[in-house]
Amino acid sequence: MKKHNFNAGPSILPRIAVENSAKAVLDLNGIGLSLLEISHRSKDFQAILDETVALFKELLNIPDGYQVIFLGGGASMQFCMIPYNFLNKKAAYLETGVWAQKAIKEAKFFGEVNVVASSSDKNFTYIPTDYTIPADADYFHITTNNTIYGSEIHNDMDCPVPLIADMSSDILSRPVDISKYAMIYGGAQKNLGPAGVTFVIIKEELLGKVERKIPTMLSYATHLKEPSLYNTPPVFAIFTCLETLRWIKSLGGVKAIEEMNIRKANLLYDAIDSSKMFVGTVAKDSRSLMNICFVMKEQYKDKEDAFMEFSKTKGMLGIKGHRSVGGFRASTYNALPIESVQALVDAMHEFEKINA
Ligand SMILES: *Cc1c(COP(=O)(O)O)cnc(C)c1O
Repeated sequence: MKKHNFNAGPSILPRIAVENSAKAVLDLNGIGLSLLEISHRSKDFQAILDETVALFKELLNIPDGYQVIFLGGGASMQFCMIPYNFLNKKAAYLETGVWAQKAIKEAKFFGEVNVVASSSDKNFTYIPTDYTIPADADYFHITTNNTIYGSEIHNDMDCPVPLIADMSSDILSRPVDISKYAMIYGGAQKNLGPAGVTFVIIKEELLGKVERKIPTMLSYATHLKEPSLYNTPPVFAIFTCLETLRWIKSLGGVKAIEEMNIRKANLLYDAIDSSKMFVGTVAKDSRSLMNICFVMKEQYKDKEDAFMEFSKTKGMLGIKGHRSVGGFRASTYNALPIESVQALVDAMHEFEKINA
């Protein structure tokens, strides 16, 4: 039976990226060595890294003055590196979910944290819009897509201080005006590649503004001076990212991907909104194109487990909601084909016919 992979992360990758990564593990470009056996200082890897950075810059239209680097440690390591490198006295954060809270927790080790707004009052089912960013903050941190709750900031905001965004789960899902941001980062394993590599897009002028001493590996200056190569980078994971970027380019770039994402999300949200049994959990203007969360209406609550089982017989994988939300979460990342969304919608309709 065909499997439909709705996993939230690590998650579905373009089939071609998986196949070409598998081939490179056996023999990289016919050189007679595995991708896993080459030096990260070899010309073969340098070519991979250079193309990855170049494609990233091209697809996201990254202006001069920014660098793209690949690090270890996941997005979670960035939660600590950001305040370590940029928080002098005070930083501002928008609290839109658990990942934002984890970022806030780390910042508090380094200085004053001003949480300008929070949607915790409604279990993070909306994006707050009514807040002011203090002009004396060293930076403002946002999480553009809240993977667990299925809410998303869809616009690139104007910000009076350097804007830093965790885009772990919506990078490359839409065109972004990079010039509005001082830094964008994320773990690759949602929309870009396998686990094990973190992308960082950083404006060079953001550096050098804190006084404190920073350990070598935690300092962005280290990683900008020897881009992605201060120590051994995750060679394999970077290769798969490159393959994903090539796939995005072959489809016409990020704008084309966005149109596909909108079609996929509309298909599922329309099914949810017109359903007798299912209901969305997120305020409509805050709904994510990447993680679509829904539950059974009150009178059908006892049918959730039955739908989970039913959907499995139709090949659905990974649609169980996060434990802090319950119900269902369908992650519709770039690589998920619309056929999988259609299969889920068909399963919902079929289940409703029998049960509602
Ligand atoms: C998954 C996720 C993280 C955590 O990423 P790690 O690479 O596991 O540290 C952080 N932020 C967001 C928005 C995520 O979706």
